[in-house]
Amino acid sequence: MPPAPQEANATSTASPALQCYRGLLVLQHRGQDAAGIVSYDNTTHMFAAEKGRGLVAQVFDQQRIDKLSGYMAIGHTRYATIGTDGENDIQPMMTGIPFGLAMAHNGNILNYFSLAQRLNKDFRRQLLTHNDLEVLIHYFAHYLTEKSGGIPDQKTFTFYNISSAVGKIFDTMVGGYAVVSLIANEGLIAFRDPKGLRPLVLGARDNQDGSRTYCFASETIALTYLGYDYVRDIAPGEVAFVAKDGTLQTATVRKEEKTAPCMFEWVYFSGAEGAQGGTSVYAARLNLGMRLGMRGREAIMRGEIAPDVVMPVPDTSRPAAISVADALKLPYREGLIKNRYVQRSFILGTQEKREQAVELKLSPVRSEIEGKNIFLIDDSIVRGTTAKKIVAMLKRYGAKSITLGITCPPHRYACYYGIDFPDASKLLARGKSAEDIAEWLGADKVIYLDAEDLRQAIGINDMCMACLDGKYPTETKESAAFSAQRHTAGGKT
Ligand code: SF4
Repeated sequence: MPPAPQEANATSTASPALQCYRGLLVLQHRGQDAAGIVSYDNTTHMFAAEKGRGLVAQVFDQQRIDKLSGYMAIGHTRYATIGTDGENDIQPMMTGIPFGLAMAHNGNILNYFSLAQRLNKDFRRQLLTHNDLEVLIHYFAHYLTEKSGGIPDQKTFTFYNISSAVGKIFDTMVGGYAVVSLIANEGLIAFRDPKGLRPLVLGARDNQDGSRTYCFASETIALTYLGYDYVRDIAPGEVAFVAKDGTLQTATVRKEEKTAPCMFEWVYFSGAEGAQGGTSVYAARLNLGMRLGMRGREAIMRGEIAPDVVMPVPDTSRPAAISVADALKLPYREGLIKNRYVQRSFILGTQEKREQAVELKLSPVRSEIEGKNIFLIDDSIVRGTTAKKIVAMLKRYGAKSITLGITCPPHRYACYYGIDFPDASKLLARGKSAEDIAEWLGADKVIYLDAEDLRQAIGINDMCMACLDGKYPTETKESAAFSAQRHTAGGKT
């Protein structure tokens, strides 16, 4: 492993690229396939890019960070929900025509395949990757220079023109996307899809010389780690532009009656120590556990279960399991110890990798398992791969009975917005009752929360729950093509 990039001491004096690197380290849980950083240097008028497959700490060393000079930078950790494992599909991506533009995004463009065809047919653009970001870059560059005949002029980079180009992106791109972008010699843009499906937060730091530095990230934990104050979430349909003189302008380009932030951010995806939509992720998980405790108590009263201990599947489910134990006045025990050097299995790309990871990442503690009636808490069952292996492992170590408590309703529908389950037929709960699911997993019982539990626990009424109830917040007429073609493009299931 190469030596990690160092910073003398103060975060505030770190270069933008070094700050990106450090931010990516704390957001590593969002993607473990690849990582990249692009910076822009206004003295040389050059972009610099460093990318690679693997974890952030494996991709970057001091030498690579030193090459990323400049006063602004964007970075990305990849979790492939579209495209291939190839180097070409690693974000951020760049173009030099019709002006210098670098971009990274979190999410998926649902109508990517038809837009890619249109770009090729109508605009004669040759796509060089299988990543939907490339389509976004082409359209954004086109909309920004549309009025000036494809060549930038004095008005191209005004905030008015930028906002209007983002509005056209909203009209064109169906899906969930949070975008950050560098325009060479101009500044940094950030925007979020009109439904707010994918998260984006704004942070600021006051410098000693009276200036302010801004930072955009998927989660507040990156802001905290880098010494920025959390200002607010970028609103659904909002665009922000930090000009080269450091001034920030923001505008709501599209205001939808109902927004739909992804419920899975609170349930599973985001780091527990942060907040999404102003709601603490940890507190939401405690609340989810409290409601699961209530469901557990009902099952105990009906004589269906008689647990001795409450046990989390580490790590995401820990706060919920603590709450369940509190609610049921039962001991909380850690019967599965996680090997922290093995990647999160859900976001590993292939079924084979996921199955190997379960074996490698969890070690059972026999003294806490043998002879016990276990109330095992997990955040979700998506494909069932992990849960089935864990149940078998606990039984092998002498568990008397296993009730699986899930802090989420059953996943029965595909996600087209940036979480990797685009094919509903692969979801365990599809067409199955809780009893069928328990039987398939080898568990004695499975208890799920329902949609109302989820709303109450997170404290937000309007969330995307499409993978639970099939009510998609955007139109989905190209969803079949999205699910099918992402395989041919090398995407993952
Ligand atoms: S479908 Fe599910 S995972 Fe996808 S954005 Fe909606 S809530 Fe999140």
